[in-house]
Amino acid sequence: MTSPVPAIVILGNGSLATARTIQQVYPGALIHGLAERVDGADRVYHEFGATLRELYQQGSPIIALCAAGIVIRTLAPLLLEKGAEPPVLVVAEDGSAVVPLLGGLGGVNVMAREIATHLHVAPAITTSGELRFGTCLLKPPSGYTLGDLELGKRFVSDLLAGETVRIEGEAPWLAQAQLPEDAQARLAVHVGHAERLPAPNELLIYPRSVLVAVSADIAELSSTIREALHRAGIAVQSLACLLAPDTAMANPALRDAALELGVPLRFAHADAGAGELARNAVEQPVSIEGDDSLAIVVAQEPLDPLQIGRPRGRLAVIGLGPGAAELMVPAVKAELARANDVLGYETYVRMAGPFRADQVLHCTDNREEMQRARHAFELAAQGRSVVVVSSGDPGVFAMAAAVLEALHESTDVHWHNVELEILPGVSASLATAAQAGAPLGHDFCVLSLSDNLKPWSIIEKRLDLAAQADLALAFYNPISRSRPWQLGQALEIVARHRAGQTPVVLGRDIGRPGQTLRVTTLAALTPDQVDMRTMVLVGSSTTSVFARAEGGEWVYTPRWYGAKP
Ligand code: SAH
Repeated sequence: MTSPVPAIVILGNGSLATARTIQQVYPGALIHGLAERVDGADRVYHEFGATLRELYQQGSPIIALCAAGIVIRTLAPLLLEKGAEPPVLVVAEDGSAVVPLLGGLGGVNVMAREIATHLHVAPAITTSGELRFGTCLLKPPSGYTLGDLELGKRFVSDLLAGETVRIEGEAPWLAQAQLPEDAQARLAVHVGHAERLPAPNELLIYPRSVLVAVSADIAELSSTIREALHRAGIAVQSLACLLAPDTAMANPALRDAALELGVPLRFAHADAGAGELARNAVEQPVSIEGDDSLAIVVAQEPLDPLQIGRPRGRLAVIGLGPGAAELMVPAVKAELARANDVLGYETYVRMAGPFRADQVLHCTDNREEMQRARHAFELAAQGRSVVVVSSGDPGVFAMAAAVLEALHESTDVHWHNVELEILPGVSASLATAAQAGAPLGHDFCVLSLSDNLKPWSIIEKRLDLAAQADLALAFYNPISRSRPWQLGQALEIVARHRAGQTPVVLGRDIGRPGQTLRVTTLAALTPDQVDMRTMVLVGSSTTSVFARAEGGEWVYTPRWYGAKP
């Protein structure tokens, strides 16, 4: 299994060269640079503290090129909380020191050695067990899992106090370690898949060498699996993955069971249930037992779940927000990080980047929306993790509806089996409104003025009724080269119901470089002030404007209507 790609965080241009050198050790790792201090970083951040804490909470390994004290103080409030602790290292900006700080069990010392070797310095390893034995006993290699951490810590401290140790079972990675081995020792490292009661003199390590195949219609799936393993004398810690028939891909009980057991869920084709799945999954198994509803296979070696069957494909339609990285929701950032394929209009795909070398980008023209939606399902149906990008919110004049329409039209069961999720973003109307104040603070109506997908007569009718109803109005797609006259006509309709002094907000490229915000009035507004990158907000009869201390105006629509309460 691959470990997550680290984030390299720097505060100034002086660290960029060292950061690039470290990046060679972790291809795909992004360099996060402080805005206005770093030129040419892969990602720009504005607040060091918030950025570091967010990365930590997402479980991302962190390599910070700054003083250790800064990182310690920044992460200190989070350290009291329980939870996964990703590796955190600091590296001197000139590359002369590599100091692992946190995440001993996440492999921080391994990373410190990798980086230090590349920088030709000695890492500042402080973990006694590692120094003495040359390996972290509490962090077995991938494919193996430690039985109990607290017992393990005690075990290692006993070893450090001078005790000797026996090794039982297959532990090839311990061959190079400098352990004080002795066949008569009281302490033992025990490696095996059998269920075993924990004892203070044993460090239990389980190979993840067991696979459970299930059919979908078992009640209380996870507890049934636990019981079956117990009856077979197999430790649940040795479970590597669940395997189910591909016809049951969309079954939520399977997903919940895998989540509860903490193992990946894979799918394969089967005509005759779990027994057949189990027989086909592992070459030369040690044992297979069970029936066509639940079967357990024990392999000779740890299993790599990525090599077994295939996963359920995933398709996420995401909203990037208006453009600025701070306005992108964390769920969207996480989705982009896990994506195998990214589809969208080229401008938006760029905005969503940078991407790792292993991520495939499919940039298309803005008009090929249905084709893009179908392509996304084709990729996801192969078991890939696919992201379709929209700007703003994907459900507002964007890809989410196109993706759902494509699915609705399809009878392909593989498409319907894809795990589909829509992740929201800050829509341009809301981003623009927030900068102006609260022009949409009362009832409002959102309209696209584009007549590409609907007749102009409908737009006129809706404008007329919405203006009549005294709703504040938000116009998307207000004008374009191919639709030059529509906005003028729209404004005429609105003016029939609304005073010339009605406030209007024009937001152009909001949240993007060169953004502009203008406050004007309905009477003063002309179509030449607007282009396709502009959001037009027209106030209602109650929308008010007043001066801001720093210059410009605040615009708001009060929450009440009629007589002030
Ligand atoms: N899904 C997008 C809207 C797509 S329609 C969203 O939720 O924001 C495209 C229209 O949105 C553009 O013609 C423009 O009117 C508006 N728009 C999108 N991004 C914008 C931005 N950053 N600033 C101002 N208007 C924007």
